[in-house]
Amino acid sequence: MARSKASIWPSVVSCGATRGEEAAMTQSPESMSRPFLNFHAHRPAASSAETVIRNYVFPQEQPEETTPAGHPFSIGIHPWHIPHGIGTAWEELERWAASPGCIAIGEAGIDKNTDTPVSRQAELLLRHAELASARHLPLVIHCVKAWNELIALKKGFPHNLPCVIHGFRGKPQLAESLLAQGFHLSFGFRFNPQSLLLCPPDRIFLETDEDPRPVEELYRTAANLCGCTPEKLRTQCLGNLARIAQPSKK
Ligand SMILES: [Zn+2]
Repeated sequence: MARSKASIWPSVVSCGATRGEEAAMTQSPESMSRPFLNFHAHRPAASSAETVIRNYVFPQEQPEETTPAGHPFSIGIHPWHIPHGIGTAWEELERWAASPGCIAIGEAGIDKNTDTPVSRQAELLLRHAELASARHLPLVIHCVKAWNELIALKKGFPHNLPCVIHGFRGKPQLAESLLAQGFHLSFGFRFNPQSLLLCPPDRIFLETDEDPRPVEELYRTAANLCGCTPEKLRTQCLGNLARIAQPSKK
């Protein structure tokens, strides 16, 4: 589908002329003015220093039709809110996935704290994975108490689909096995410090999810732990997004 250039891309996703990690790590006056990427949140930006990938829980929530093209968002069917019949709603989701602001598909996933059978959740997660792959976008995953199922299911995902576990709070052992399977990890305010420390920089994202605090606070906490500056982490996360989200191929 033809698309107009979303204004968010030059500042958030392109990260300079190159998508490579070295470029992402280079500090320049331009990069210093770039915002802190909030990979996943259910609210607008808390300040001008923050760029949020706003999550919409489809079909209950949807971006406004009037939303400017530069407003980045992710959209998907949350495992807590799976409708009985998807029907035409899926076509609508596909339409949103093709829109210029859509940066990621999800959150979708498997959660054993809901009544929906795991098989149904898994089937829908696979469908989201195929949609994300078709749009050259990453998949944002919500997973609760279903790590083995998720790892098994990922083997059936389209090849090379970037998958980000959002709100990861797990212990280092779980982090290691997910990283070995190629997942990226997005950390919120409640994270296991050891898991963050063992996560390779090119697999890290930071997010506030439901937390109202500005994401810069989380960058400061994480940078402190990692022994780097918040600015370096900011550049790293922007570079990571540039590598995994390629909506220009939509
Ligand atoms: Zn969320």
